Amino acid sequence: MPPASAARKILRRLHDVMAGKAAAQAKLNQVVKIAADELGSEVASIYLLRDGVLELFATFGLAQTAVHVTKLSMGQGLVGNIAARREPLSLAEAKAHPDFAYRPETGEDDFHSFCGVPIVRREAAIGVLAVQHLEPRDYTEIEIEGLQTVAMVLSELIHSAGLVDDAQAMRMRAANSGPLRMNGLKLVDGLARGVAVFHQPRVVVEHTVADDVDVERTRLVEAFGRMRAQIDTMMGQAEFVAGTDHHEILETYKMFAYDEGWSRRINDAIETGLTAEAAVESVQSRNRKRMRSIDDPYLRERLTDLDDLSNRLLRTLSGQLSTAAQLGLQSDAILIARNLGPAELLEYDKRHLQGVVLEEGSLTAHVIIVARAMGVPVLGRVDQLFAQVNDGDELIVDAGNGALLVRPTAATIKSYQAMRVLKARQAEQWERVRDLPAISKDGRQIALYMNAGLLDDAASIALAGADGIGLFRTEFQFLVSATLPRRERQQALYQGVLAAAGDKPVVFRTVDIGGDKAVPYLAGGEEDENPAMGWRALRLALGRTGLMKVQARALLEAAAGRTLSVMFPMVSEPWEFAEARALMEAQRERLAAAGRAVPTDVQYGAMIEVPALIEQLDVLLPMTDFVSIGTNDLTQFLFAADRANPRLADRYDWLSPAILRVIRRVVCAAAQHDVPVTVCGEMGGRPLEALALIALGVDRLSITPAGIGPIKAMIRVATLAPLADMMLGWLAAPGVNIRAELLSAAKRQGLSF
Ligand code: PEP
Ligand code: MG
Repeated sequence: MPPASAARKILRRLHDVMAGKAAAQAKLNQVVKIAADELGSEVASIYLLRDGVLELFATFGLAQTAVHVTKLSMGQGLVGNIAARREPLSLAEAKAHPDFAYRPETGEDDFHSFCGVPIVRREAAIGVLAVQHLEPRDYTEIEIEGLQTVAMVLSELIHSAGLVDDAQAMRMRAANSGPLRMNGLKLVDGLARGVAVFHQPRVVVEHTVADDVDVERTRLVEAFGRMRAQIDTMMGQAEFVAGTDHHEILETYKMFAYDEGWSRRINDAIETGLTAEAAVESVQSRNRKRMRSIDDPYLRERLTDLDDLSNRLLRTLSGQLSTAAQLGLQSDAILIARNLGPAELLEYDKRHLQGVVLEEGSLTAHVIIVARAMGVPVLGRVDQLFAQVNDGDELIVDAGNGALLVRPTAATIKSYQAMRVLKARQAEQWERVRDLPAISKDGRQIALYMNAGLLDDAASIALAGADGIGLFRTEFQFLVSATLPRRERQQALYQGVLAAAGDKPVVFRTVDIGGDKAVPYLAGGEEDENPAMGWRALRLALGRTGLMKVQARALLEAAAGRTLSVMFPMVSEPWEFAEARALMEAQRERLAAAGRAVPTDVQYGAMIEVPALIEQLDVLLPMTDFVSIGTNDLTQFLFAADRANPRLADRYDWLSPAILRVIRRVVCAAAQHDVPVTVCGEMGGRPLEALALIALGVDRLSITPAGIGPIKAMIRVATLAPLADMMLGWLAAPGVNIRAELLSAAKRQGLSF
């Protein structure tokens, strides 16, 4: 019999069983009969997971008295082995296998060959389907796949009859998959524990046997059409070009999406009588099997891409398009994604989101800045993440040590708890200096402000021990909104922030949208090929003055009766600053003329993050009340190295002479013009880097709230003058390894990092 028609016949018979009115046990009895019939085997049996053990639930060919009597634990015997490894096993001589466990009550003495496949639901084994033959024989690929198809249908039957508890199966799977330690790059420091939740949840196929093959064929064609269109759009969209790796992945997606071979294999599976979803799943599980046997990392990666794409196709087919954020987190969760946009992360419920693990990711990408603001630890660049972690696995993220602990043992959980206690003790030490000023031993005072972007952050100024907010990224509100936030909403946020800050200063930065902070409602017009260097930030604001005027009014009215400090992002030439300032001043005059309350004073600042502006500081500085160095963008533009590209993430050192000399130039020029300088990039939040900035003459840092405690504690025990002298010497001497020199000088003072 040709294989496709054999499969079709089995599925037709299973379809009738599923549609029938018989009780669950009777249906299982019918299924084993069909499996034995169609595979020409003397025995077919179903084992299901109950109370943590695999119990014989139905058999054709073995003693009926063994049903509900014969039991095997996970990993025990051939059946337990299949369930534990979630892989098929076929043997010409079953008894010769070291794991063979003899069960006399079944009367299986006469049978030689054995073939079993796991019955899987939500990536957990909930049972095993096995056939046995009297004669020693080998099983063909096609026979094994046929059995897997029956197992897939069985999974649906078992679930709809409520025969196995899903949660119990997931726990068993976790216990059997064993613990694993994976390495990654610390993107946001911290320690977290929770269960794995995929940002794009895996689809569970609920309906496996087709009622009408033609309908399924059409559904597949339509789903392919929609998915290809989505990928084409994504390829063109600036926000998805954030990392170049991402682009490469999309190229691969595109190749697979248009691959005739893949769609043909799915169509062949539909021809046998599966629903379109079950057909995709069945081809996908074959692909996963191949994935496990391939060593070549490049090929493995491509197959992971195909796996990801299969899931996308399943989502398109089943209409289950929601992200885990939209579905809502139910308990403490560690979010798993290839990469995320800042807006996507902000959609998650902060109460349950404990940590994030990414397959990609880089230190200064905006999503990381958002995560830092949310206080969520992030581990990035974890290779093979999707192949090794399952939905619902218990995870510990130890970002500080660059580790992801998958399915940790009781001992690991204990040491995690001990580590948390230690961290809490360290936090207590920082707490002791929280309300004290950051004054060095030799009397130099450094102002430590915090970066913020959410209303909640503003509320934590006191908790962090910050002197105020040195950078409030107003675009966060735009990123979390589905539509352009209206003036009233903007104003309410700014008022809330100022109220929370009390008498501490707040520097609002006007919207920095574009680059990897794309918002769909502002897209329009032509796409940027290089979004980071494109129509973003102040360029966009000066081009769409309506947007800027609304924000100006919201800021001015929110700060009525007090000082408003506002700065503009991505200033490249002094005239841009002048124009932005004039625009705000015009709004202030209009408001005053209309009798509205306005700020008592407005302080205007410029972000220094485009190298060209540094060549014109003599023109810029006389116009500004303050400046703030954005080292994230400045580094990106100075080195021509995309800040969101993971491959460049640690290629350039923040303590390289190139950066430190540029910053020193700004510090000196600002001092001449008596203009205060703050550094507000991520660099300043790392203790050694902060020390370098302070040694360069920077007296104000605006950093991540979590960085304030350790940096304040460091400053209070440091003697800064000699470090500043040494720094000047290192900058003047070519070829010095400043990181190494500074580290050893700091250690000589007893500072620890
Ligand atoms: C910077 O570029 O350093 C900065 C602080 O701004 P953002 O990270 O928001 O671009
Ligand atoms: Mg910037």
